[in-house]
Amino acid sequence: MRIRDMYQKQDWEISFEVFPPKTEKGLESLFHTAGQLAQHNPCFISGTYGAGGAVQDKGRDKTLCMLDTIRSRFNVPVTAHFTCVGNTVEAIRAWLHQATLLGIENIMALRGDPPQGHTEFVPTPGGLRYASELVGLIRREFPHFGIGVAGYPESHRESPSRESDLLTLKHKVDQGADAIYTQLFFDNDDFLRFRDRATALGIQVPIIPGILPVLSLSQVQRITALCASKLTDRLWERLKSHEGDADAQIQVGIDYAAEQSRALLKEGVPGVHYYVLNRSDTIRRILETL
Ligand SMILES: Cc1cc2nc3c(=O)[nH]c(=O)nc-3n(C[C@H](O)[C@H](O)[C@H](O)COP(=O)(O)OP(=O)(O)OC[C@H]3O[C@@H](n4cnc5c(N)ncnc54)[C@H](O)[C@@H]3O)c2cc1C
Repeated sequence: MRIRDMYQKQDWEISFEVFPPKTEKGLESLFHTAGQLAQHNPCFISGTYGAGGAVQDKGRDKTLCMLDTIRSRFNVPVTAHFTCVGNTVEAIRAWLHQATLLGIENIMALRGDPPQGHTEFVPTPGGLRYASELVGLIRREFPHFGIGVAGYPESHRESPSRESDLLTLKHKVDQGADAIYTQLFFDNDDFLRFRDRATALGIQVPIIPGILPVLSLSQVQRITALCASKLTDRLWERLKSHEGDADAQIQVGIDYAAEQSRALLKEGVPGVHYYVLNRSDTIRRILETL
């Protein structure tokens, strides 16, 4: 099923995001996790592409290979992330052909980050500068794909203002994006304000909040520094009060993610996208709570 048809039901949809592990052992363990995630009937499981501005190997594409196995083993829809990092337009077309041949139905179209230690994104010679260009290319040349794009409730770190960030988001939608999946956030008010502003600007596609089940204080501090999302005092205090107790911190993360999800569902979001960090146990406990 393509993204544009996924959010038509009365009920809410869940989707899960995983990343390709580095080792064969990690991959087998991920497949086990994916099998458990598939039992929650997600509208899709998505697989990330590259990370932190790293160029993904051009050989056997690990995102596509991983998703192909997940889809065929567990009969679950998949969405492949793809970035402009390290790719010429020809390489982009070749990758999209490969995804087509594998029967992948949806692409999360992203620009990608600058390489680690750099603050400015420099496009690959012969490549693309913005995710909107990638969306446009997919829509024109590979119209069979559903397209998701990234949105930022707290604004993208390179954007000069919230207004310009929203205008570039609108441009991605005008180029053909079917839905927006947000960066992780911990304050629902940030999401709700972002959604209101996007709607006021005429963005009409579904906006799906991205939720991270936190595992520990040190982990969340690392992640928020990478993606420029802010930690709320409420979550920080709860995690801090259980410092040194790994299980209690995981429970805090589960409770917080469940509270966030419940409140967002009350606000009428059509779905929730969980950054599952290749774990299924936390998701099971969140969904049980919900
Ligand atoms: C749901 C989700 C999934 C992700 N998955 C991955 C992944 O798999 N792999 C990975 O490496 N990264 C991933 N990322 C991170 C993403 O690649 C980074 O946040 C990246 O820095 C920006 O990507 P983008 O697609 O939002 O870029 P863009 O939409 O191109 O925006 C990048 C910056 O350029 C600005 N901009 C855009 N268009 C214009 C324009 N025409 N003129 C001027 N300024 C403009 C924007 O405001 C923004 O500041 C993901 C993020 C999210 C939210």
